[in-house]
Amino acid sequence: MKIDIVSVFPEYFEVLNLSLLGKAQEKGLVEVTAHNLRGWTHDVHHSVDDTPVGGGAGMVMKPEVWSECLDELLHLEPTTVTCDSTADADDTASADAAEPAESATEIAANADTVPATDRPVLIFPNPSAPLFTQQDATELSHANHLLFGCGRYEGYDARIPQYYRAQGVDVREYSIGDYVLNGGEVAVSVMLEAITRLLPGFMGNAASIVEESYTGENALLEHRQYTKPADWRGIKVPDVLLSGDHAKVDRFRRDEALAKTNELRPDLIEALDCSKLDKADRKTLMALGWEVSGAHPRQR
Ligand code: SAM
Repeated sequence: MKIDIVSVFPEYFEVLNLSLLGKAQEKGLVEVTAHNLRGWTHDVHHSVDDTPVGGGAGMVMKPEVWSECLDELLHLEPTTVTCDSTADADDTASADAAEPAESATEIAANADTVPATDRPVLIFPNPSAPLFTQQDATELSHANHLLFGCGRYEGYDARIPQYYRAQGVDVREYSIGDYVLNGGEVAVSVMLEAITRLLPGFMGNAASIVEESYTGENALLEHRQYTKPADWRGIKVPDVLLSGDHAKVDRFRRDEALAKTNELRPDLIEALDCSKLDKADRKTLMALGWEVSGAHPRQR
């Protein structure tokens, strides 16, 4: 997987050379390059921001600098598009008729015929975007090329993602939570770690990512984990985990996962597909107060 990150603080990403992600780079599983956005400026101050149109506090990242950088990294020629700047983020835009060779409509049409994995995905962290989830991480772990753009200041000019969508680029905007950070660097690190650990060969033990929280079709929170000693400062691990009976251990952990999810994230229980629950799952959920006769569990 090729990963490009654009930031005004590329040094921030030196931490990616550590730990498992560092090893994955050594093994050639991922190739991470952090670029300095200021490298695409032409003024003496290397400015990447300007005052907000319409007034207000702070500064906004300029579209010209971003587009020079992204055009180069995405191998696109500059063009003009006609977009409704008030349109919904997912609305497509049409190309300017003056640029028939590189028309956005043509590129978009071609892009649909290219397998999703071979198309670069352009990702902007944004606190007002949909929440980044394990499902997104799983989907993005199948891409060959991810390009992250880190916002700073009051954020980036809203026309940037709009323009690249109109060019047929797969553009995503994600929030990592309901809070505001100073910049996109932390958010990109979070997303990168969640995505890359799903790459085949990334984890020492591939089984450790199979039964994790939020993972798989009928996602739950993972059961509680314990290690030795079996009795630590007066707190014992549940006896069944010492029994050596693998079927009993599996059932205990599954019931524990259902109980924990019920307590902390009942929304995940509501989203379960009842047809994929076994008899014992249903019994446990019923004991926890759920009706399991429909498509999804309903609280009684
Ligand atoms: N003015 C923006 C707002 O109120 O929504 C906040 C801009 S923030 C100070 C600067 C940049 O940090 C954003 O453009 C984004 O790239 C990143 N950022 C901040 N919080 C984030 C979050 N919760 N999730 C993802 N990215 C975030």
